[in-house]
Amino acid sequence: MELDLTDRVVLVTGAGRGIGRVIAETFVREGSVVVGVDLTAEAVAWLPDGAGLAADVTDGEATRALVADVVERFGRVDVLVNNAGINVEGSIEELTDDDWDRCFAVNVGGVFKMCRAVAPVMKAQRSGRIVNAASFAAIVPSVGAGAYAASKAAVVQLTRTLAGELGPWGVTANAYAPGMVPTAMNGFAEMPQAAQDRLLDTLTLRRWGEPQEVADAVVFLASDAARYVTGTLLDVSGGKLATQLPQRAYERAGATDRGTGA
Ligand code: NAD
Repeated sequence: MELDLTDRVVLVTGAGRGIGRVIAETFVREGSVVVGVDLTAEAVAWLPDGAGLAADVTDGEATRALVADVVERFGRVDVLVNNAGINVEGSIEELTDDDWDRCFAVNVGGVFKMCRAVAPVMKAQRSGRIVNAASFAAIVPSVGAGAYAASKAAVVQLTRTLAGELGPWGVTANAYAPGMVPTAMNGFAEMPQAAQDRLLDTLTLRRWGEPQEVADAVVFLASDAARYVTGTLLDVSGGKLATQLPQRAYERAGATDRGTGA
């Protein structure tokens, strides 16, 4: 299978830390020309040759200027990864207007504005890959995550719409659903062990995801190997959405192992 991402111009939002940074690093290793964006220049100063740019994806003018800047410097945009996102927690009764608006402004508005800015460029190229961060929460929300889950579900529908609108130009748009990847956003790894176990029991593969595992899926969606894939939501959650009560398999396996003396 040929991934062939050498010299591709790749724009990654939220590249300063967490999963986005590992996505950007992975494209660099694949030989792509990577431009990383985050709220501050310091966050993306790890990228060489001024390829780290400060922009707020909620700012429509900034997203247009950012894409224009990349086109001016590199001549094209082959891949846009809309990774930037925020987590907003609180029950429906607790969420403030500002919580809700901020969550949608970044998670949906940011994706929309970046896609709007890059669409004419990719149409003119008659090629391009848009890869958007959704979440398993788009399918199975957590209690206390109404704003976040609704915003990620909106990303999935935005992505499908975009896939339809850009299909005639050979541009693909896909979303991916990371599962539980410990980062500064969620603090999973710092939780008490009993709380970690409760969450891990919901995962078919019963371990935390690693940023690299998400990055590998993103690189696939951005590559020639995925040229006939568009409008999908790729689940990268260790089987969070596969079955109810996956821990039963671990209990059964444990019983079998004991039974055979393993
Ligand atoms: P993170 O908080 O560690 O990193 C997010 C990055 O996005 C930060 O560097 C932040 O500064 C940047 N960012 C935030 N708002 C921005 C804005 N307005 N403009 C530009 N940059 C902005 O988060 P993460 O855990 O690495 O998550 C990355 C993406 O994956 C998010 O969209 C998140 O919703 C999604 N996701 C993560 C998980 C997980 O388990 N970590 C699960 C499902 C989905």
